[in-house]
Formats: sequence, C-alpha cells, structure tokens
Amino acid sequence: MSAEAPLIEVKNLKKYYGESNNIFKRKKEVVKAVDGVSFTIHKGETFGLVGESGSGKSTIGRSLLRLNSITSGEVLYKGKNLHSLSDKEVRKIRPKIQFIFQDPFSSLNPRIRVGDAIGEALLDHGLYRKDEVRKKVLEVMEICGLSLQHIDRFPHEFSGGQRQRIGIARAIILQPDFIVADEPVSALDVSIQAQIINLFSDLQKEKEITYLFISHDLSVVEHLCSKIGVLYLGSMMELTSRDKLYENPLHPYTKALLSAVPVPNPTLKRERIILQGDVPNPANPPKGCKFHTRCPLATDICQQEVPAFREVEPEHFVACHLV
Ligand code: ADP
Ligand code: MG
Repeated sequence: MSAEAPLIEVKNLKKYYGESNNIFKRKKEVVKAVDGVSFTIHKGETFGLVGESGSGKSTIGRSLLRLNSITSGEVLYKGKNLHSLSDKEVRKIRPKIQFIFQDPFSSLNPRIRVGDAIGEALLDHGLYRKDEVRKKVLEVMEICGLSLQHIDRFPHEFSGGQRQRIGIARAIILQPDFIVADEPVSALDVSIQAQIINLFSDLQKEKEITYLFISHDLSVVEHLCSKIGVLYLGSMMELTSRDKLYENPLHPYTKALLSAVPVPNPTLKRERIILQGDVPNPANPPKGCKFHTRCPLATDICQQEVPAFREVEPEHFVACHLV
C-alpha cells in the first residue's frame, strides 16, 4: 500500500432512493442502492467495481462525482469532502473529475460536430480561446485514435467504438486526474472492447489518470484494474488487489462470478458455479448476509447475522461468515 494520501476516499457511503421525509405520507418503498460502502483509490490506480446489474455500481460512480446526492457517509477527493463543498469550490474541481458513459451517443448532441463537442467543455470552463481549443481538440483526437479529417463530422457518422473514443476525448481534454468510467465497453463488440480497454490503459500510463472502472463483467476488469471491489445489493462483498482476487477469491459470490470468466488455458478451467435464483428485490433485501439466498454454502448464521467486512489477510477484505 502506498503511503501517500489517497486521491479518493469513500467512507461508509449510503444512498437510499425513495425515502419520504414527509411524516404524514404513507411510507414509500426505500431502495438501499448503496448501503455502507468504503474504499480508497490511490493516484494512478485503476479501481474496478464489479457486480450484477442493480448492485449499486452506477450510484456509487455518480456519488463520487457529485452527480447525485448521498444519504450519508463521505466522499473525499484529495482530502476534501465533495458533498459539503461550496459551489465555487466545486466549479474549481469539476474539470479534474470526469465521467465516461456506457453510451456516449446519448450524451452527444446529434447536431453538434464532434470537434465542437470535444472542445465544448474547454470553452465552458473558460480555459482556452477558440483557436487554441481547435488545436487541443486535434491533439486529443489523435491520442484517442480518431481520424483528424473527421473533426467536422456529426455523431451519427461514427461507429460504436469511435463514439466511445469521442466520449473519452471529451473527458481527457480537460486533463482530469480522476475518471469514473461506467460500463464504457459493455455496449461494444468484444473485438472493439479490447481496443478501447487498451486506450484506457495507454492514457493511464501517459497521463497518470486514476480510474474507477465499472463493469458487470469480471473478464473486462482483469487486465486493466489493479484493485477490485465486488458489490452485491449495495454492499461490498470482497475487496483486494487484482492478483489476489483472481488467484485466491474468498467470497462465494466472487467465486461464482469468476467461474463464468473464460480462461485461456483450458487445463486451468474453473468449475462453473451456477447461482440459484435472481438478484433479490433491493427494496426488500434478505436478512443476515444479503447473499445467503443464492449462496451454495449458506448456513444458519448467514440467515441471521450480517457478516462484518473484515481484513482476513493483508489488503484482502471480505464480508463472509465462512471465511
Ligand atoms: P448498477 O449500476 O449496479 O446496475 P444502480 O446504481 O443503477 O446499479 O442501481 C442500484 C439500485 O438503485 C437499483 O435497484 C436501482 O433500481 C435503484 N435506483 C437507481 N437509480 C435510481 C433512482 N434515480 N431512483 C430510484 N431508484 C434508483
Ligand atoms: Mg449501472
């Protein structure tokens, strides 16, 4: 572990949706989308956040950039509590923390040429003059593997992979030091996925960008991420380095997710663990360990007590009674 203070520190983060603060209204269904999650990300690290759909990944990603409010807990960026900063301070930090979406197309205005879309934020933040902006746009287009002749084309003229390159170019033109990438390759063909992941990895080496990389697929984060957190129904189940997670997964949920990841060497093939049932309703999660209803190893204690999130070996955290 690095002695340097973390770039991002998340402390007991909770985000509940549907809470009514009007005591006269009928109690609404509350979804505990994020239910007490803690982790840190150091400069230059790529933190992979994985879990099935609905586990709270996007909510955490958005909370880290103040794109949604939080119920409780803290998100520190360079030691500053992001959710209690003044608007003025937020404006200063805004360019440094960027978001990349699964579908960049939805965030691109169809009538704005990509060059202008990529340069837009620079003008908005008042960082450069118009002629300088065009130069910067060409620079990042080149870095992101976009053809410079395409600067005046419209978004619909690009393929999915190219659009994601545009999304990345829009984010890195602001020279951020932290990027949340939310399922940025999930909508792409597998062959294109690898190219975009390589681009993320090259950018990280060149520009020392720190990432929170969100994916529902453990095979996507394996080559990019240095640290991985496994989320289930708003709770962190396991958190450790990439190497430890793949070599020695401890949580039954992680084991099940990993068993679905194809391995290049067939003699090392893991036995496929098929999880029973669907993800429970997050508005009414199982008591005790949230995973017990689908866990092949669950015992009595799992149905009754919430397992503590413990450091079972150095830098390897797991929330499971059986470990
Ligand atoms: P993931 O990104 O892992 O699929 P999300 O963070 O999108 O998970 O969602 C976590 C839970 O919170 C889900 O049950 C989802 O339905 C719920 N949720 C997400 N956004 C909202 C919202 N704006 N209002 C109400 N519930 C929401
Ligand atoms: Mg999501």
